Amino acid sequence: MKEIQKLFPSMDGNELQREELLSYFKTILTKIDELKDPNKLTLGIMPEYTEDYYNRIIEKADVPKKGVPMEEVIQELLKLAEGHRYVNRNYVANAAPLPNIASMIGNLVMVLVNGNNLWDVEGPAAAAAEIEITSMLSKLIGYDESISAGYTTWGGQGVVFNSLRLAIARYAPSSNENGVPQNLYCFCSELSHYSLYKSVEAAGIGVKNMIRVKANADHSMNLDDLKEKMALVIGNGGVPLYVLATMGTTDTFGVDDIEGIKRIAEDLERTHGVFPIYIHADSAMGGMYTFFNHYDFESNPLRFEDNVKKVLRSYQHKFKQIKLADSMVFDFHKLGQTPYITSLFLIKNREYLKYVDLDAAETPYVGNRGYGSYHTGFTLECSRMGSALAIYASLLAFGMEGYQELLANYIRVNIAFREMLTREVSNVAVTNEISPITTFRFYPEKTEWDNELNGHLPVEEIMEINQFNDEFAEVIGAERDTVFFGNTKKQRLVEAADSNKQLPVYAHKFFTISPYSTIEEVDRYVGFLKEHLEIFLKMRNRKYSIIG
Ligand SMILES: *Cc1c(COP(=O)(O)O)cnc(C)c1O
Repeated sequence: MKEIQKLFPSMDGNELQREELLSYFKTILTKIDELKDPNKLTLGIMPEYTEDYYNRIIEKADVPKKGVPMEEVIQELLKLAEGHRYVNRNYVANAAPLPNIASMIGNLVMVLVNGNNLWDVEGPAAAAAEIEITSMLSKLIGYDESISAGYTTWGGQGVVFNSLRLAIARYAPSSNENGVPQNLYCFCSELSHYSLYKSVEAAGIGVKNMIRVKANADHSMNLDDLKEKMALVIGNGGVPLYVLATMGTTDTFGVDDIEGIKRIAEDLERTHGVFPIYIHADSAMGGMYTFFNHYDFESNPLRFEDNVKKVLRSYQHKFKQIKLADSMVFDFHKLGQTPYITSLFLIKNREYLKYVDLDAAETPYVGNRGYGSYHTGFTLECSRMGSALAIYASLLAFGMEGYQELLANYIRVNIAFREMLTREVSNVAVTNEISPITTFRFYPEKTEWDNELNGHLPVEEIMEINQFNDEFAEVIGAERDTVFFGNTKKQRLVEAADSNKQLPVYAHKFFTISPYSTIEEVDRYVGFLKEHLEIFLKMRNRKYSIIG
C-alpha cells in the first residue's frame, strides 16, 4: 500500500509531499506557458485532424497494466493540451472564458477539500460559499435575500430545465406523482437559446407546446405577438405555464423587456383567471450586466466614455427589471471569466423548492439528521461539485468595480470594431445593436441590409448572400489560428419579397471575451478581415470568369 499511498496528498501535511505536488503543478504551468504565443490562437501545434483521428485513439486505448510514473502522466496530459485553442486576444468567436486566477484557486480549493455540495456535513465550504454568493447576487439584482434561494448546477441549460421543473411542480403539485398535465404551454422568443427546446422535450411537455414568439428589429421578443399567442392558448383551453425571457440572446445580445412580459402575464391572470405564469429570465449571456444596476452614471466614478456609458445605461434600465422574474441565472463561465461549469440558479422565492424537494423517506443516507442543516434534496443532481467556490473567489477578487471594468471593455472594443469595420470595408453591414457581440454580413457588391430587413429582396438573392458569407466563413475559419471569428446560420429571420416564408440570415460574429482584447487590437481584427475578403473576392471572380 505504500506505493499506492504515494498517489495521494499527505495525511499529515508534511513538506516533502507538498513539494512533490508543487513540482508537478510547476511543471504543468511551465510547460503550458511555453506553448503560449500571443500571435496565435493555439497552444503549440494543432494535431492533424485526419479522418481517422478519433478512430486511431479508440484502437490504441488500453488501461496500462502497471501505473506509469507521474512524470509520464504529466507528459501525456500536456500532449492533450498541444494545439488547444487558448482564449487570448485572437479569440473573438464565442463566449468562451479565460478563467481568472481567483477562480482557478477557488477550483483548486474545491478539489483539495473535495466537498460534496449535496450536504453541508459532507461539503461545508461549498455550502457556505453557495449561500454567500446567493445572498450577494440576490442583493445585487433586487431579490429579497431573506426569501430567495440559489444553487449551482449544470449550466444555463440546466437552469432552464430546473426552472421549468419548478414551474410545472408549482402549477401541478401532484405532477411528481401523476406525471405532467397535457395542456401546458411554454413561450420563448424565436431567437432564444435551444435550452428550452431540450427542456420541453425532456420534461414531457413536448416541443409542439413550445410557442415561438416573433422578435423585434432589436432582437428582443415582440410583446404584441406574445400577448396574442398566449391569449390564443387560453382561448383553446390550454395553460400558459412558463415564459422564457432572454436577457442577451446568444448570437446578437437582444434583451427582452421583462417588465412588459410581466405586465402581459398579470393582465392575463386577471382577465382570464389563469394561474400565475412562471417567468424565467434566461440571463446566461447577459446576467453579468446586472453589475451596473447600482452604478451612478451621473458621477461616473470609473470614467466610462460617453458612447460606452450610453449602452451601459440602457442595460441598467433593462436589467434592473430582472427582479420581476421568478428565477434567473448567472453563467459565470461566459462573461464572468471562470472555468466550466460555474452557473448559479437564483430563485426569487425559496418556497417554490418545496414542490420539488425529496421526501425525507427517500433520502436515508444524507440530510434529515440532527447534524447538518443544508441539504439540497431539490436538485436534479445527487452529488454536486462545489463550483460556488470559484464564483465566490472571483467575486472577491474583482469586486463590483473589477467586473464593471471588464464588462465595459467588451462594449468599448465592440464600438471601436464597428466603427473601423464600416469605415474600412464598403460592402459590409453591421446587423445588431451595440453590445458585447457584433454580428456583420458581407455582400458580393454593395450592402443590401436595409432591403433584406424590409423584405425587398427575393429568396434567391438572400440565399446567395448567405452562401457568400458561408464560403467566406470557411476561408477565415481555415486561418483561425491567426484570428478566430465566430459565425451563425440564424442571426435572425427576415421576410423575402417573393415568399411568405421567413429566411434565416447568416452572419459573422465578433465576440471579444478575452481581457487582452483591447481597443489597441481592433486594427488587427479589421485588417485580417479586409485582407482575406480581398483574396476571397479575387478567387471568386476568377472562378466565375472560368465558369463564364
Ligand atoms: C449559453 C446559453 C445557454 C446555455 O448555457 P450553458 O451554460 O452553456 O448550459 C442558455 N441560454 C442562453 C441565452 C445562452 O447564451
